[in-house]
Amino acid sequence: MEFQNTREFAKQLDAQDKLAKYRDEFIFPHVNGKQVIYFTGNSLGLQPKRTKAYVDEVMNDWAKLAVEGHFYADKPWWDYHERFCNPLSKIVGALPSEVTVMNTLTVNLHLLMVTFYQPTDKKYKIICEEKAFPSDQYMLKTQVKFHGYDPADAIVEIKRREGEHNIRLEDVLAKIDEVGDELALVLMGGVNYYTGQVFDMKTITKAGQDKGAYVGWDLAHAAGNIKLELHEWNVDFAAWCSYKYMNSGPGNASGAFVHEMHHNDLDLPRFAGWWGHNKERRFLMEPNFDPVRGANGWQLSNLPILSLAPYLASVEMFDEVGMDALIKKRDCITSYLEFILHEIDKEVDSTFEIITPSNPEERACQLSVFLHGEGRPLFEWLMKNGVITDWREPNVIRLAPVPLYSSYEDMYEFGQKLKEGILAT
Ligand SMILES: *Cc1c(COP(=O)(O)O)cnc(C)c1O
Repeated sequence: MEFQNTREFAKQLDAQDKLAKYRDEFIFPHVNGKQVIYFTGNSLGLQPKRTKAYVDEVMNDWAKLAVEGHFYADKPWWDYHERFCNPLSKIVGALPSEVTVMNTLTVNLHLLMVTFYQPTDKKYKIICEEKAFPSDQYMLKTQVKFHGYDPADAIVEIKRREGEHNIRLEDVLAKIDEVGDELALVLMGGVNYYTGQVFDMKTITKAGQDKGAYVGWDLAHAAGNIKLELHEWNVDFAAWCSYKYMNSGPGNASGAFVHEMHHNDLDLPRFAGWWGHNKERRFLMEPNFDPVRGANGWQLSNLPILSLAPYLASVEMFDEVGMDALIKKRDCITSYLEFILHEIDKEVDSTFEIITPSNPEERACQLSVFLHGEGRPLFEWLMKNGVITDWREPNVIRLAPVPLYSSYEDMYEFGQKLKEGILAT
């Protein structure tokens, strides 16, 4: 499609957009009395209007039923988490039995490492990407130390090549080959939080497993953003947070995936709690742990229903929309934003650079822009003028035109503001 940098053209794209009606389902903040252009759905998604009713329902059930709500609420609490298995499995490309919701993301990755990182003196190394999200770096280092190994030796990072912003697949595969039989685990972000680069999870998973390693993915920036086929790709395990692209509210519950091939392996180590125990016998309060055969077997505690309620509102909305429609708009609006950035670049003498891959196969709904000359004052100008984006050291703003609630006119409007901001700073 030939794009144009005009309001009329943007409006025309909005008029043809099948997801346009969902924009009205979200609550936008205002700056200077005007609705913002929101680019940080990759950090905290906007609140859907329908969410409040889900929370109110739990509050009302609690008021009316108190403890009886566990069994007699319309959506009983004791198995509330099972409502996620079906819709969530479609979002991440899994069988319903392979997904669960519990805890928070870093907690779940730690718990899954209890199962999938069992180092021995011959096989103890972990491959991850350079500059992984800090929580993942801390997690890997402390896990390695917990098992008595030295992080400097056990953690192998895949580096970017000199002068390049993204990691090459061939370099990931070469590193897996090089570490070879010493490789115990590959654990990477499926979509890099800083650059927005999408990794070829299928190929990397197979390469790691061919060396006898487990392969897990941190899907914080992938869940609800890209097409995932976790079951088909034979991924061992994965976890994601729900407050970024999945709009479930600040710090909310995480989702986790454990491949079916591990469900009946009772020799796998795990940390257990009563909510992971055989559902039919959970309340018999027996002494011996008999795990649910599925991702729910990794549950620990009875669940925080008040925080699951907004997450349920969200997965039901995703189920309605479907990932295919979402991805179709995502690609179009992201390309439109990229076009606008290039147009503005031509109009003003700026020095910004898009560091996200330009190949649509290797990116999703985020463009990371390196502000070589303009720097932080431009970011601050944008924030003051109703463009909500974020700043990542040393000099990057991340722009995520989330397909559920961003409009093409937002992209046009942003271009005009960007131009104004560059001239003003
Ligand atoms: C956002 C993000 C996290 C956050 O972890 P929490 O435990 O939810 O605070 C972890 N990893 C990645 C890759 C992220 O993008």
